[in-house]
Amino acid sequence: MRRLLSAFAFALALTPTAHANGLLEPPLSFAPGTGTPRVAVTLDACMGGIDHRILDVLVRERIPATLFVTARWMKNNAETTAVLAAHPDLFEIEDHGRNHVPAVTGSEKPYGITPAGTLAAVDDEVLGGAEAIIAGFGRQPTWFRGATALYTPDAMEEIAKLGYRVAGFSLNADFGASATAKVAQSRIEGAKDGDVIIAHINQPSRAAGEGIARGLLTLKQKGYTFLRLDQLP
Ligand SMILES: [Zn+2]
Repeated sequence: MRRLLSAFAFALALTPTAHANGLLEPPLSFAPGTGTPRVAVTLDACMGGIDHRILDVLVRERIPATLFVTARWMKNNAETTAVLAAHPDLFEIEDHGRNHVPAVTGSEKPYGITPAGTLAAVDDEVLGGAEAIIAGFGRQPTWFRGATALYTPDAMEEIAKLGYRVAGFSLNADFGASATAKVAQSRIEGAKDGDVIIAHINQPSRAAGEGIARGLLTLKQKGYTFLRLDQLP
């Protein structure tokens, strides 16, 4: 029975944290098991390029991960898109939007980024990202994570209406790739059983990526199991 239970990972979508600007940050983790720790690594490709320090470790060490990509990033990274598509056993590709526009209605600018503004623009962001993934990977995404991972309540409802689950996280490893290598590494190494980790794979010139790669190697060496979001019911 114990073994049977530990084979499943139940996603826990807890109450969103409300930020001072009124925007919501929905958390995501999964129920701890009884064996060696399990974590879900989610990596955002917002715009920019590809961080080979991270990607090469994932491929070489066979670490599965869920990548949130935008249509905009795919367009500028055709070669890497092909590499990801060549490893469907490792990489689950999910929706990070068409143009990396926050799924926020109204005029509040999370982290200074101009939001979608209207529900119609939220729809366009979600569906535009999905279209690119279907075209590039032959796969219908089921999870959506908006730019900045902050939402207005009506946008969260809209995303659910479109049939997507909003992908939060429980461990922010790199603070938008702004962390030092040392901080990013130690945050990943502090991952607990059931954590959904967020970091960025699109910032090859930032120091954070080096720490992300090192941290993932440590978890692998410690015997952690890596789950993708499509393995959480
Ligand atoms: Zn992003």
